[in-house]
Order: sequence, then C-alpha cells, then structure tokens
Amino acid sequence: MTEHILIVGGGQAGMQIAVSLREDGFEGSVTIVGEEHHGPYQRPPLSKAYLAGEADEESLELRLPQFYVDNKIVVIPSEKVVSLSWGAEHGVAVTDTGRELPFHKLALTTGADPKRLTCDGADLDGVLYMRGLDDANELKARWADINDIVVIGGGFIGLEVAAVARKYNKNVTVVHSRDRLMSRAVGPVVSDFFLEAHTKRGAKVLLEKRLTKLHGENGTVTGVELQDGNVIPADAVMVGIGVAPRGELADQLGLERAENGAIVVDSHARTSDPRVVACGDVAYLPHPLGGEGMVMLESVQNAVDQAKLAAKSLLGGEEEYRAVPWFWSDQADLKLQMAGLLQGYDQQVVRGNLDEDKFSVLYYKNGRIIAVDAVNDVLDYMAVRRALTAGQNIPADLAADSAVALKTIVTD
Ligand code: NAP
Repeated sequence: MTEHILIVGGGQAGMQIAVSLREDGFEGSVTIVGEEHHGPYQRPPLSKAYLAGEADEESLELRLPQFYVDNKIVVIPSEKVVSLSWGAEHGVAVTDTGRELPFHKLALTTGADPKRLTCDGADLDGVLYMRGLDDANELKARWADINDIVVIGGGFIGLEVAAVARKYNKNVTVVHSRDRLMSRAVGPVVSDFFLEAHTKRGAKVLLEKRLTKLHGENGTVTGVELQDGNVIPADAVMVGIGVAPRGELADQLGLERAENGAIVVDSHARTSDPRVVACGDVAYLPHPLGGEGMVMLESVQNAVDQAKLAAKSLLGGEEEYRAVPWFWSDQADLKLQMAGLLQGYDQQVVRGNLDEDKFSVLYYKNGRIIAVDAVNDVLDYMAVRRALTAGQNIPADLAADSAVALKTIVTD
C-alpha cells in the first residue's frame, strides 16, 4: 500500500519538507497543496531586491519545474484545503474545488497572513500589503504613479519597502506605533541607528504614532490621518503591521493552538497528534536554543531547518530541534544580520563605528553570549553565529575591543 504524506501550504517550509522526505528516502506519495497560483518561491527578496527591480520573477523560484517531476513531488497550486478529517485508516483533505486528497501523515505549513487595517478607509484602492508575489507585483506596477507613500509599521517589511521607495525618490513617511523601530527583533542601539539612517536617506519616520483613518477620493486613498489630527498625503499606503498565523485548519483535527492562533508543536515539530507536524510561520515552538518558553520564528532559516526536522519526525525520527535562529534585512546600503534571540539580555557590547555604518551589538545573559545584531559587519555576525552553533562563548570583556577579531576569542 502506498503511504501518502500531504503537505498543506506551498511556501518555503512546505517545499522543504517535500525535499527532505525524498532525501531521507521516503518512497510514498508526496503532495503539496498551495493556495497561490505560483509554484513555491522565495519570499525574502519580495520586499528587497525584487521590489527594487534587481531580481526577476524567475530567480525567485525555489526549484525548477523539472525538479518536482524528477522527485515525484506533486504540487497542486491555486487550491485551498477547506476540510481535514481522520477516517479509520487514513485522513482526507478536501480542497475548495472539491478535490479529495487522502493522507496517512500530514504537514501543516500554512504560514501567516499580514494583519489588516480595520480603520475607516482601509479598503480604499492604493492600500497595499506585502506578503506574496502578487502583492510585490502590485506595488511594482504602481511605482510610476506614486509620489507620496506612507508606510504603516516600522518593522522589517515597512522599512525594507521604505528604503526601496526612497531609491525611487518617492516621498516616504513611516508611521510606527512603538517608540523604536524593529523593536521586536533588534536592540535599542540598532533601532536608533536605523531611525537616523532612514532619516538621513530622506524618509520621514514618525514614532509612537497611530493612524485613525484613511482619506480617499473616488475610491482611492489620498491621505493618512493620525491621532493628532494631522493628515499625511498619500497616493499609496503600504501596511506592514505584523502577521497572524494561519492555524485554523488545526481545529478540524482537534490540535492544540496557542492564544495567538499558532499551532503548538514540540521539539520534534509534532503537533498534539503525532501523525501531524507543523512548521514555519504557523508553528509555536519550544525555544530552539534551550531558552525558556515557546516562540514564533518568522524566518526562512526556521522554515527550512524546522521543516528538515519535521520530515524526519514524519518518518519516525526522534531528533530534537536545535538551531540558531538567524535573520537578515536589506535596507538601502545597510545589511542588517541577526543571529540568536536577544530576549532577556542583561549586558551588551557595541563594536565598530556607527558613524561609518559598520558595527555590531553583542547581547549577553549571565555572561554568555546569546545574540548579535550586525550592520555591514559580516565577520562579527558569522563569528557569533558560529559560537552559538557550537555552544561556545565570546567573553564580553574581550569582545569590547573592536580591534580584536571575534573569531580569535571564542571560548568554551
Ligand atoms: P513586524 O516585524 O511585526 O513589525 C510591524 C511593526 O508595526 C510592529 O512593531 C508593530 O507594533 C507595528 N504596528 C502594529 N500596528 C501598527 C499600527 N496600526 N500603526 C503603526 N505601527 C503598527 O511585522 P512586518 O514588518 O509586517 O513583517 C511581517 C512578517 O514578515 C514578520 O513575520 C517579519 O518577521 C517577516 N519579515 C521578515 C524579514 C526579515 O527577516 N528580514 C523581512 C520582511 C518580513 P506591535 O509590535 O506593537 O504590534
């Protein structure tokens, strides 16, 4: 009897599970169902090189079409799984076209949706989001008609789009609700640096501001009204205010979900039903470096590494997930690279020179290094990433001398 493994979600995590299943010797059927009409593609360039016109659509493809044929991976695009249930011998997924897909094991890699504005005017034309290729194409198609763009949210999406918009000489205003940029991901030194960097490059950045409504004319957005009554002119509004995990399907199988909607998994990427794994942006997982509590890791690194482990778990493996989280963001000529998770740090060391746009911030907890943010400093970033991977330390007192290369002071 053929064993069927069904993967719901055609993004980076879903694709990686399929690839890893084949690499690990699985000979049954592997099917990926994805809602988008594109095959699996890379998302990170969408708000960076692709939006800036420095990468084309073909370069985003994760694999060439022949790869799926050669590896007997069936990809069903443009269909949404609407129901999941278990029978006595196997489960069945039903898509919105009525197609029935049997499975013996299941992977949920349904990702996350961008959070939407709900204020007056939120549905005006010109209010845009950035999650999929279609979103990026929509903004690209509009560049020529945009003079004033307002970016809502000073996270990665907002700032990457703001940087590209400045490259095209648009008037850019970033409206951010928090008191510092990218506050979920980086420390205050880096937030302050990027505030100045974007300002220097011509963007206007407003912190601790919230919009109350969007103004429009003939159905198209014309301005963003803030709580203080000011209206910022806009012929496009890019919304990057975070994402909401798409965990709803898990309810149909009675799987545990977190308060934020994500699917709870253990260190093997297994859900509360061991026949079902979940990984990528939809998963709520134990800290991957043995830290406290559960985390969401919205990154390509996590999508890929957790998916590799999930594939092993589907095949009966017992390996635990241990991976150093890493992220990056390209904003104008600044490459921000982050490794580890800085939450709970009690000491920091700043190396290099902020004025020269090349520095790093090392974060410590109880004297041990836990994370790094590096700007245009790949050597410091790599040294910390390697140390974290090997479970080694980089003592703060030694790291404080910027003239010393970090890779020479890694200790056990
Ligand atoms: P994000 O990183 O969560 O940043 C959004 C920011 O906008 C948050 O600080 C949020 O504050 C703030 N915000 C929320 N509501 C707001 C409002 N009404 N007005 C102004 N600001 C508001 O999310 P994102 O930038 O949208 O990115 C979406 C996803 O893509 C994330 O998962 C992100 O990690 C991922 N991504 C990653 C990269 C990368 O790794 N380089 C690049 C692009 C995107 P609160 O925290 O208070 O909600």
